[in-house]
This record gives sequence, C-alpha cells and structure tokens, in this order.
Amino acid sequence: MERHKYVFLFEEADGTNKKLFGGKGTGLSEMTRMGLPVPPGFTVTTEACLKYYENDNQLPPGLMDEVKAKLKIIEKKTKKAFGDAKNPLLVSVRSGAALSMPGMMDTILNLGLNPATLKGMIQVTSDERFTYDAYRRFIQLFGKIALGIDDRKFDEILNDSKKKLGAVYDTDLDARALKEICDKYLEVVKAETGASFPEDPMVQLELAIEAVFKSWMGKRAVDYRKEFKITPDMANGTAVNVCTMVFGNMGSDSGTGVAFTRDPGTGENYLFGEYLVNAQGEDVVAGIRTPQPILKMQKEMPGTYEELERIKKILETHSREVQDFEFTIERGKLYMLQTRNGKMNAQALVRTSVEMVEEGLISKDRAIMRLKPEDLEQLLHKRIDPNYKATPVAIGLPSSPGAASGKAIFDADEAERVGKMGQKVILVREETKPEDIHGFFASQGILTCRGGKTSHAAVVARGMGKPCVSGCEELHIDMKAREATMKTTRIKEGDFITIDGTKGEVYLGELPTVDPEMGGNLLKLLKWADEIRTIGVRANADTPEAAAKARQMGAEGIGLCRTERMFNAMERLPVVREMILAETKEKRAEYIAKLLPMQRADFRGILKAMEGLPVTVRLLDPPLHEFLPTTEELTEELNALKSLGVILENGDRITEAMRFLDPAFRDALKPLQCLVSDLSEVKGKELNRKLIQKQEETLRKVRELMEVNPMLGHRGVRLGITAPEIYRMQIQAYMEAIAELTKEGANIQPELMVPQVCTAEELKWVHRMVEEVQQEVEAKYEVKVKCAFGTMIEVVRACMRAGKLAEVADFFSFGTNDLTQATFSFSREDAENKFLPLYNERKILQDNPFEVLDVKGVGRLMQITAEWGRKTKPNLKIGICGEHGGHPESVEFCHNIRLSYVSCSAMRIPIARLAGAHAKLKEKEKASGARIGSDGSL
Ligand code: PEP
Ligand code: MG
Repeated sequence: MERHKYVFLFEEADGTNKKLFGGKGTGLSEMTRMGLPVPPGFTVTTEACLKYYENDNQLPPGLMDEVKAKLKIIEKKTKKAFGDAKNPLLVSVRSGAALSMPGMMDTILNLGLNPATLKGMIQVTSDERFTYDAYRRFIQLFGKIALGIDDRKFDEILNDSKKKLGAVYDTDLDARALKEICDKYLEVVKAETGASFPEDPMVQLELAIEAVFKSWMGKRAVDYRKEFKITPDMANGTAVNVCTMVFGNMGSDSGTGVAFTRDPGTGENYLFGEYLVNAQGEDVVAGIRTPQPILKMQKEMPGTYEELERIKKILETHSREVQDFEFTIERGKLYMLQTRNGKMNAQALVRTSVEMVEEGLISKDRAIMRLKPEDLEQLLHKRIDPNYKATPVAIGLPSSPGAASGKAIFDADEAERVGKMGQKVILVREETKPEDIHGFFASQGILTCRGGKTSHAAVVARGMGKPCVSGCEELHIDMKAREATMKTTRIKEGDFITIDGTKGEVYLGELPTVDPEMGGNLLKLLKWADEIRTIGVRANADTPEAAAKARQMGAEGIGLCRTERMFNAMERLPVVREMILAETKEKRAEYIAKLLPMQRADFRGILKAMEGLPVTVRLLDPPLHEFLPTTEELTEELNALKSLGVILENGDRITEAMRFLDPAFRDALKPLQCLVSDLSEVKGKELNRKLIQKQEETLRKVRELMEVNPMLGHRGVRLGITAPEIYRMQIQAYMEAIAELTKEGANIQPELMVPQVCTAEELKWVHRMVEEVQQEVEAKYEVKVKCAFGTMIEVVRACMRAGKLAEVADFFSFGTNDLTQATFSFSREDAENKFLPLYNERKILQDNPFEVLDVKGVGRLMQITAEWGRKTKPNLKIGICGEHGGHPESVEFCHNIRLSYVSCSAMRIPIARLAGAHAKLKEKEKASGARIGSDGSL
C-alpha cells in the first residue's frame, strides 16, 4: 500500500488548499507555478502536524524519509548538497498555518551549518564575515526555538561585543568578532542544554520541523487564536516550509524587504514597503534596523525595482487581492520568499475595494465581502481635534491610523495590569515582540522607538485597528528608571500621552479628539451595499440633532426614540420632578401642561429631521423613581440641611460666646459676626425649614416609589395605565406635532409604540387613548392625523401572544435588551460585571448575550413571534431596536428571519448597512453554491 504523503515540492502542492499547505505553502506553490523566482523547496503538510499531536508529539513514521527524498531533488536543482563540506545547501524552516498569524509561530534560518559546512560556505562565498554572521544567527534561532534557550542570553553576548568594539549596527562587526560570538553562543548552548549543539544537518532539520509543530500550541499562538476567534475549522495545525536559503546579506548588491502591492494604511495603489541593503529578512520584521521606503529602490537598484513592479501586477491579477510579499536580493538576483493576502486597515480595505472594482479586478459583491462589517469600526476612530493647537514632543512613523491617549506604560505585563484596572494605556516599547501581545490587547495604542511600518508593532496594531507610532527614534526608554526621554522632555511611567498614528506624532497629556467623517470611497461602497441589502437600517435617536447625524450616517428612519431621554434634559428635570411629586390631580396637570409644548417641539424637530422617513416614538418606559434623586442623596442633603438648622438655632449663642473671648481677637472675629447676622435673616425667613420640608416630602415619595425589582416593576405600559395623564400628554404632543407638519405639507411617516406590553388588553387600552386623542387633535387642527401604532416585544409573554398583539398592532419592534434579560433571567444592569465574564471565560456561554444576540434562545423566540404575528397580519412590519441591532452577526440573523429593519446607534449604522449586504450575499451564495466571499487562489 502506498504510504500517505506528507511532503510536497512547491511545484507539486495545491496552491488553493490553504488548510493542508498553509498560507505560506500555497503562496510559494502558486508563485512557483507562475514562474516567479522562488528558491526551490517543499512543504510538510498541516496533516503531519496534526498527526504529530495525535502520536503523542512524535513525527509521523516515514516523514523524515519523505523529507530526505525531497531534499535530494532540491540538491539536484541547486547543485548543492545538504551537509556537504564543499558546496553546502542551507535551508530555512518556516511555519505557515491556513490563516496568517504574524509573528506568532517560529522560523529558523541558515539550517545546515556546522563546523564542516561553515568552511565550505566560506570557500564558496569567499566571505568569512558573512558566513560567521549566518552561523551566529542560526545558532541563536535554533537555540531559542528548537532548544528552548532564553533569547536574551544570546542578545547579551551580541550587545556586549558591540559595546566593546564600539559597533552601532550588527554590520559593523567583523569576521573575528562574529567568530568569537559564535563560540560564545555554542558555549551557551552547552551550558543551557548540557549537550553540544547538534552538528548533523538532518538532526537539525528534524528538530526544527518538530519545533515548528510545537509552536502551533505555544502560548503566543494559542492566545492569538483565542483573541481572534480562529477555530480549528479555519486553521488546524501548521505546515512547515523548507526552502533553499538565499542571502540578502552578501554585500551592497544584496538586500531584503517586505512589500505590499498597495499601501495597507491608505489603500493607495503603489508599491509600498521597506527594504534593507545587506541584511536578512528577520532584520526588517524585528525592527532592529530602521529600513528604507521601497520607492528609494528606484534609484538604488532600478532593475530590481522594475522587476518588483512587474511581479506586483502579476500577483494582483492572479489573486485579485492585495498581496503582502517578502523578497530577498542575493547579489543582484531577486527571489520571492512569500506572498499572502495583505492585512490592511479598514481605510485601505475600503479604498482598494472601490478601486479594484473600478479597475475591473473584482466584482462589487466581492468588494463588499472583502470588508468585515466590524472592520468599519476602525474608520469610526477618533482623531485629534484639528482646532486644538499642540506641538508634538516626538515624531515617528505613522504606522496605524487613529489617535489614542493613555498612560505611558513600558512593558506588556504592566500594561495588562493597568488596563485591567480600567485605565487607558499606551504601550511604549523600544520594539515589540510577539510575546508582548497581551500588552497590545490591554492598550489603546502602541508607540515604539525602533522598527518600520512593517515591524511587528505596526502589523499587529493595524490588525487590531489600534493607533501605532513606530520607529520614533528620538525616544529613549530607561527601563530601570521607568521613564522615557526625548530631547528635553521626560515621560515618567504613568504620565498621560497622546499618539496620532495617522501622522506619527506623540504629544504630552490627553488631547481632545473628534469623531471621523465618512470619506467618498466608503460612501460609494456603502451605497453598493445598500443596493444589495434587503433589510432596512434605522437609528436609535432621541433628539433632532441625533436624528440628523443618524441620517448622515445612512439611517433610513428612526427605529427607537426614547422619550424619557427628553425628560432628563437639564431644564426639564425639575418640571418632571414636580409633576411626579404633585399631590393633587390639578397640580400634576399643571406641570404636565408645561411639559407638553416641550415634547411637541422635540417631536416636530425629529420628524422634520427625518422627513420622508419613518420615525418610531416610544411612550415613556422607565419607572418614575429614575427621575428623582436616590434615597442616599436625599438623606445626605437632609442631614446637611439639619446641621444648618442647628447652626441657625444657635446663632445667638455664637454672639454670646464671642463676648467671652480675648478682646485682642475681636477684630479677627468680625466676619463671623456678619455671618451670624446673615444667618438670623435666613432663620427669619424660614428658608431652611421649608427646604427640609420639601426634601422630606421628596424622600417620602421616593420611598413610596421604591421597588425591589424596578426593571420588572412599575414601568412601561403599566405606568401608562396607572398614571394615564403622562401617556396622554405624550400622545397629544406627538399628534399635534404630526398635525402641524401635515398642515405644512411635510412628508412624514410617524409611528408610535408602547413599551413592556405583555397582553393584548394593555395594547388595546393604550390604543383607545390614542384614538381619542387623535380625534381631538384632528378636530382642533382640522387635519387628518396618520400615525402607525405598534408594540415593543420585550416580554416573553408578548412573544407567546404575538398572534393576538398583531390584531391591534401595525408593527412589532423587538426590544432585545429586555427580551434577553427576560429570557435568561439575567439582570441587564448587573450580569455584565458580575458573573458573565466568568461564564464567557469558562465557555458556559460563548458570548455576552447582551452584545451578541442569543440566536438559540432569544432568537428562537423572535422567530416564533414573527411567524405568529405574520399569521395574523401578513404585512406586519417587524424590527429590532435593542443593542443587537448594530451587531453584524445579529443583523445577519435578523435578515434570515425576515425582519423588516434593524435599528442601532448612529455610529454603528455603517456597520449595520454593510452587515445587511453581507447577509444578503451569503444567502445568495448558499442558494447558488458560488463563493463570493472567497479570495483569489493565493
Ligand atoms: C430594549 O429593551 O431592547 C430596548 C430597546 O429598550 P430599553 O433598552 O430602552 O429598555
Ligand atoms: Mg426595553
């Protein structure tokens, strides 16, 4: 029986099967087939990695035989031999999973070197310095990755040597110094592992393959997968790519670089990237030396630049996607070492999506699917208020756009600690390494002293959509003193700083920021999304200003106007309080009459701002005590007033006591005498007593209104029925606003809805009131008033009685905040900071149900409700206005159960618009079997 095949030459591998060959493997394979200059090599599949774990961390039997056989072919192609003392073949060993996880797994370079092949290399290259440099890099990487030795042990030796010799860069070290370093490295290996460094290249290779497999389950990689929700379904195991070494550090006609076919920060269509002359790839990525922009290559290496331009076109035409590639130039010859779909920020994704459609590279559907709805969040990032004049204290590279402020923290652990305390953090590092990842998660932004726009810090920050300034070389960090200095400025750890990742600037203090605006490309893309999407997108907005903003963001109506927010306005709250505290019907009516014109003006404003679009106004929902001070506040105030009472009562005694004092002090006590006379005036007017009386009355009312479970208590329609004058006033205000605007000829689509309904009788009760008021208003204004009448669905019983409710309601609106609370019996006020985090951590619940709609429970209820409601009224309009309305997955669910619209906060509207289009396209994809969402074959 033929043995299972685990190892494939690049030309043999399937360039579309990322799951088996990993992203890097498929990229190398495709480029080889396209005839691009890729050094010969092979890929060990992810299947071998999974077998390794299945077999208790043993390589699958026969794997190394396969490796040997492929090496033979490579030896033939390169005319070199693995382990040969005269003309040695050296290889790189790199990880590569189905999804790119930058810097999360390991790579070993220059494998195959030992004292014998070293000599051969010196002869072949006639370059002793170069060979020892390759050797020391190999010992360090192999020592760290395959033998588990702390990297710092090697770094210390290198830095000591550089210091001793006055060298600034590694390239300043000569062959002798490097040879000495290699010897010291080998001693470190012996001291740390108790054994000599393995010399047999096949042993080296086997250990290296195993080390790459191990890195798949390393803490960094596991944390990364967890954070980015990479499931085994998306990437399972890593492949290993073994590739002939080519060297960028063979002199001034050699070099190495990374490039994007378009700018990943802006999307602009030009060869974007960086390169270093006379260096190996790791130098660019690790940010040890700051590289040069690739455009400089036009002058420095014009032939190579032209070839890169040619390759850029080939790669994009083939993959129909922006590519991120690595290359090396060895003595003037260009080699491609990797290509993959470029990770871009949202701004770049939007621009490239639009431009690639216009260039005929991709379809509109594909353009929309390239951008994840949640990515848009990045575009909604803040920037420093342009009206605020501040001078940056340092300038670095603009590596990930957006502005962020926080406390400057100098290491990842501390950043995590401070971040967990709920404080804002800017992680400030010399350079970042993959093990700093937890610090990234905890920070608002990243600032580094070294490294370019493709350094680890820049790539990871961009991926996370966090602002980053890298390569800020004037910044020096003193880890012992825990402070950073630049020119004359000093930042102590914990000081607030602001970074502007769009401009690369660093400021002291917390600068004011402004919200971003939507640019032309995004508007175009969202318009395409609107043409595709069938689910409507509305906004939750409570004021005319918020409504106008929502409209600007693309809202097709207001799905929820919470009228209580209008009650809370500064100048209104006292009137609302007086209304609640009124002892008689007449008094209450007086205050209600004061509120009526205010509400009418609000409604007018919102209807006007949304002319031509529907506006859903919800009647008062929260319990009344929410408008009153708390018992604690009132008790404190009362105590203070009572203390004042004591002072007032004893004012005379103060004057009396003053008579006994030493006459020398009398002058000094004069102000006190004045105060006493003022106090007696207050006492005379009985101001204090009146105030105490009022506060006591309020306290009594607050106590009366107090409930053990206010969220399940006297609120919503229940309040409407027990205190009908409030609902009546609101209905009247709305009807009058409608009447006025109708008379003025405005095109309005008003809707009125009732919160917390659980029975059709409640709804009928309010409906009767609506009809009454409507008739009155129609008579008064001599105009017909049209207003749809609906109910919120946020009580489980309402779901069960949907058929009945639909007899009265023209529309339903799911209040999934309350419905989630009711379905889980989790208090929405408390669950999120009590037990939910632990539930999520232990995977008892996958998500926070107040954020991501619980499709299996709450969603099921919604589905049943929609079905039963529509059985009664086939054209029943159904929307959602809970927080879930702006969450992409939840929008998809709402589309799938045929809701008419989602309603969310203004800032999330673009996200919901895109999510709606995604939902539709996914549906089309399912129906036709064609994959719109897939990228090109690379
Ligand atoms: C809801 O319950 O989902 C809702 C929109 O109402 P509120 O959040 O105001 O209770
Ligand atoms: Mg609610």
